Amino acid sequence: MSYQGWSDFRSDTVTRPTPEMYEAIRTAELGDDVLGDEPTVQKLERTAAEMTGKEAALFVPSGTMGNTIALFVHPTRAREVLLEEKCHILQFEAGNIGTLIGAVPHPLPSRRGLIDMKELQAGYKAPGNMHVAPTAGICLENTHNYHGGAVLPISYLREVHSFAREKGLFMHLDGARMFNAAVSLGVDVTEITACFDTVMFCLSKGLASPVGSMLVGSKEFIAMARFARKQFGGALRQSGILAACGLVSLQTMTRKLTDDHRRAQTFAQAIAKIPGLDISPVEVESNIVIFTVRKEGWSNDRLCGEMKKEKVLALTFGPGRVRMIVHKDIDDADINRAVESLRTILGHF
Ligand SMILES: *Cc1c(COP(=O)(O)O)cnc(C)c1O
Repeated sequence: MSYQGWSDFRSDTVTRPTPEMYEAIRTAELGDDVLGDEPTVQKLERTAAEMTGKEAALFVPSGTMGNTIALFVHPTRAREVLLEEKCHILQFEAGNIGTLIGAVPHPLPSRRGLIDMKELQAGYKAPGNMHVAPTAGICLENTHNYHGGAVLPISYLREVHSFAREKGLFMHLDGARMFNAAVSLGVDVTEITACFDTVMFCLSKGLASPVGSMLVGSKEFIAMARFARKQFGGALRQSGILAACGLVSLQTMTRKLTDDHRRAQTFAQAIAKIPGLDISPVEVESNIVIFTVRKEGWSNDRLCGEMKKEKVLALTFGPGRVRMIVHKDIDDADINRAVESLRTILGHF
């Protein structure tokens, strides 16, 4: 059962630290990361680099900062970045891509987060024309938040990667839920990360850490990113307290994501049977369940308000849409409770 009697489906960011994390905090060896001697942060960064098959890693306070730093360090000023029109970087990161980074976002349509190769090819702008901001790179999101946790297959990532190589573009992954993608595809994360120059992933979502994300890439890139993190005010002192949790996330939480996916699937199947709710596709690929309210006189706001009275928390997420995320603090009882509350509220017993 979730925290203090609430079934909190608003996000996988609400996950509380595991008992191992509290123990890891208690026993963590600490230093001062800004002075460069935080042993636990260093261990986390080494571990993240190894697990993702990259040369180096940087611990950052949030996913937004990780993405922002990555795009700041890549050569993006007055250049275009190709990305999906509903992606987090564009829609939910305070407009940083324009204001802090000075890049020109070039949004492209997609089928559930997958931008057609033809769109990418047509969106590409070569350098050398003074009227045009040339394309610098491509950002993808895997799993895709707005598109209900949709997963981009490895074959597609490889195809985009080879196009990027051919044109000399960088590839950045907003991999906030990259481990969910890997588990869903049944591959090691290195299969995903190999297709990108830089990858951001969150420790604070399904992996259950209280705070923090990682940015991984080449040694040279991460050295510049470390400088940028300081510029953005994101250098933290005894951050070993947080890194200790991050290590537990990487060591113990990645495989457990399959439980979340299984429950999300069960939940989606049940929602599909409730008249007034529309879910498509019913096949949930990871841990995010999104459905649309289509009952006369009902809005997503009203539905979420009614669910809250039953101690079930959900988020409104675009026109008529409700987002509910399954995570380690949601068990089978929480799923049943959510289904029952939806049935009761909408008058179907
Ligand atoms: C959560 C999330 C982020 C980063 O969010 P923070 O709240 O800044 O840690 C980035 N991209 C996606 C797709 C996300 O879901």
